[in-house]
Amino acid sequence: MFKPILIEARNPGPMTGRGNNTYLVAGANGAATLIDAGVGEPPHLAEIDRRLKAHRTRLDRVLVTHGHADHASGAPVLASAHAHATFAKYPWPEEDVRYQVVWQALADGDVVATGAAGAAGAAEDESLIVLHTPGHSPDHAVFWHEPTRTAFTGDLVVAGSSVMIHSSRGGNLADYLAALERLLALAPRTLLPAHGPRVDDPKALITGYLEHRRMRERQVIAALQAGHASVQAIAESIYDGLAPALMAAARENVRAHLEKLRAEGRAIDEAGRWTM
Ligand SMILES: [Zn+2]
Repeated sequence: MFKPILIEARNPGPMTGRGNNTYLVAGANGAATLIDAGVGEPPHLAEIDRRLKAHRTRLDRVLVTHGHADHASGAPVLASAHAHATFAKYPWPEEDVRYQVVWQALADGDVVATGAAGAAGAAEDESLIVLHTPGHSPDHAVFWHEPTRTAFTGDLVVAGSSVMIHSSRGGNLADYLAALERLLALAPRTLLPAHGPRVDDPKALITGYLEHRRMRERQVIAALQAGHASVQAIAESIYDGLAPALMAAARENVRAHLEKLRAEGRAIDEAGRWTM
């Protein structure tokens, strides 16, 4: 039976909400896979141990959705606690070196066994397919379980919120939108994100995301047409009355839209002065 177990990483904070979700896929054959490493909080490690014992499995594999610290920085602690575990992610060399484990490189379309197969004769396939879904970060990957149409979505979506596109740190809005379209086309039944609750109506959430970004793009274009030329001025015109603490995120978001418009030949940037 393919039944991922939610294990919270116990790292609550302004950027992580309640903290990250990690997921354990424990199989009857004694092997287990963890999706995302968390940050190495002792209660997280203890709960992983408890769950492994309860399922009489050992941790064989850790799959990491992307190299942001709240998903990857727990890898070295997990490695010292679980000698058999291997670690794999889509490569992002500059970031991956921060986490002292041997990373196996995943590629788009790779099929990864999780050890989730039931006893002999289990009809359900145990493997996950790696989907490279850049945009939130250049290395972002979704792990797709086709038989149950379940996707481990990392930071691709967060129910009730929108996702940061860090355009100054390798994020790319056009890639992100393409990744959402790709996930939508798979007709998923369940999304298991790294933050917030599971998503049981993926189509509604993803189409809502796409519509929200299209609306923001129209606002950015309108701001440019109204003569707002700097990222700050555009952000202020769109996010009128936003708390100052959130302005940096708003600027990052505006910059992501401008970069997309520039890549499409629809906007130009002359030393920080943006025009259509
Ligand atoms: Zn992230």
